[in-house]
Amino acid sequence: MRRKIVIGNWKMNMTRMEAKNLLTLVKESVNVSQTDIAFAVPYTVMETVQKVLAESNIMLGSQNVHSEPRGAYTGEISVEMLKDLEVKYCLVGHSERRKYFLETDETVNKKVKALLEANIKPVVCVGETITQREQGIHLELIRTQVKKALADVDIMHIEDVIIAYEPLWAIGTGVTATSDEAEEVCSFIRYIVAEIYGVSISQNIRILYGGSVNENNAKELFSMPNIDGALVGGASLKPTFVEVINAAEE
Ligand code: PEP
Repeated sequence: MRRKIVIGNWKMNMTRMEAKNLLTLVKESVNVSQTDIAFAVPYTVMETVQKVLAESNIMLGSQNVHSEPRGAYTGEISVEMLKDLEVKYCLVGHSERRKYFLETDETVNKKVKALLEANIKPVVCVGETITQREQGIHLELIRTQVKKALADVDIMHIEDVIIAYEPLWAIGTGVTATSDEAEEVCSFIRYIVAEIYGVSISQNIRILYGGSVNENNAKELFSMPNIDGALVGGASLKPTFVEVINAAEE
């Protein structure tokens, strides 16, 4: 059985005080034992968040990392720095990073491998634009994104990788993919993983849906057989995020 996981992506939001207030509330209100929880937070609040979450089962996540171990990369953060703060998960290739910071499938692959070496779980984001979906090329695009992200990833490490299907037309738009649309792509991603690593490994990989998930639609999405949780942006900034987390356990 795969454990469900719900990951909040705070993007470029939250001061230390706001982070502390929200997480104190979340920590006191969540009621799950079979679901993993993480928050991918800005670097500036990581230490605060780590302290608030100490001795809870909510884990710290990052929104990005650099693939090189150290050096002259002004403004960047290494896997070792994330490890130092006990970061357990790291988003890779979020569509906003691909769009605004020109991240490519190749840089995604480098980051995935660097994170796995450091025992930090990469959350690889893939997804199509509305035009690509309308053209009927979305599944091929997702196949390419998944295969390139996982290129040369050792079979020993693969079960630490989480893949998040995030259609760009659903991110921050209020338009959620229907549970059938999300399930179709998540099951296709599992099939691609099976092609590379075999069916039994593919059954252990966690595949998430992301795109305008909230307390009203989470339960139905989580009921689909190939959706193992969610990556949640906007709704993770509010106290009602607790309801999204609790829905994963039902
Ligand atoms: C995201 O940023 O990963 C995301 C899914 O955002 P939202 O939930 O706001 O659509």
